[in-house]
Amino acid sequence: MAILDKFKLEGKVALVTGAATGLGASIAKALSEAGADVAVHARTYGKAAETIGEIDAGGRRAEEVVGDMADKEAPRRVVEQVMDKFGRIDILINNAGTIRRSPAVDFSEEDWSTVIEVNLSSVFRLSQAAGRHMIAQGSGKIVNIASLLSFQGGITVPAYTASKSAVAGLTKALANEWAKFNINVNAIAPGYFATNNTAALQADETRNRQILERIPAGRWGDPDDLQGTAVFLSAAASDYMNGHVLVVDGGWMGR
Ligand code: NAP
Repeated sequence: MAILDKFKLEGKVALVTGAATGLGASIAKALSEAGADVAVHARTYGKAAETIGEIDAGGRRAEEVVGDMADKEAPRRVVEQVMDKFGRIDILINNAGTIRRSPAVDFSEEDWSTVIEVNLSSVFRLSQAAGRHMIAQGSGKIVNIASLLSFQGGITVPAYTASKSAVAGLTKALANEWAKFNINVNAIAPGYFATNNTAALQADETRNRQILERIPAGRWGDPDDLQGTAVFLSAAASDYMNGHVLVVDGGWMGR
């Protein structure tokens, strides 16, 4: 296969969770531009209309699938919706995620549970439900959205750090089991990207300055900065990558 053909996703069906906004919306559009049809997940109906409109305009099929990832049953139902609408699932981008900020001593039980359910348990449940179909069809790509806090401690986000560190471990655990089925499980660890997730940091003048001072590229990431990596890890070009957590951070980790 010619090298640029190894980045093409024609004939593939991708599920992108949390694709109404931010990184998920940008990744969903990138996969469609590379040729995939996309199941665009949002928490509730109507939220992902903009992402769907853009994919439609580009000539690929986009369908909304919904579910609250804090609900234990939602991941299985979301994968069922994808199978009902498209009949297959080739690519799963586990992107939906949430963050709660509070010093550890005050961190509530409720916030802890929500963050762990949404950021970690739903990633396992979605991977398990999609993985069953991928094993049956003999191929698949799973890309988890990890974080720099898969490697570092962060500040006043203990549940988020715990969840994203566990996502890195889960990526390797699933890769070990499923590589033999021609399923690649990898992760992207984005650095500091300008989205809703980091709105509080961007608005805090001191934190914003400190963050920018440490990023060699000298700027916040734009969601579109993740598109190339997401397509690469979803495509044949990455067929011999298994259990890798790929950092895309403007140089933060090297500093
Ligand atoms: P975002 O715009 O807030 O996107 C998060 C998405 O997840 C939203 O579409 C959100 O939907 C969805 N979501 C949250 N809780 C959910 C739930 N209970 N059920 C279903 N969907 C839910 O922020 P983002 O930065 O693009 O975040 C995307 C992923 O990247 C997250 O996993 C985040 O942890 C990770 N990440 C971001 C950064 C960064 O710098 N921005 C860095 C590292 C990792 P609603 O709008 O309905 O809440």
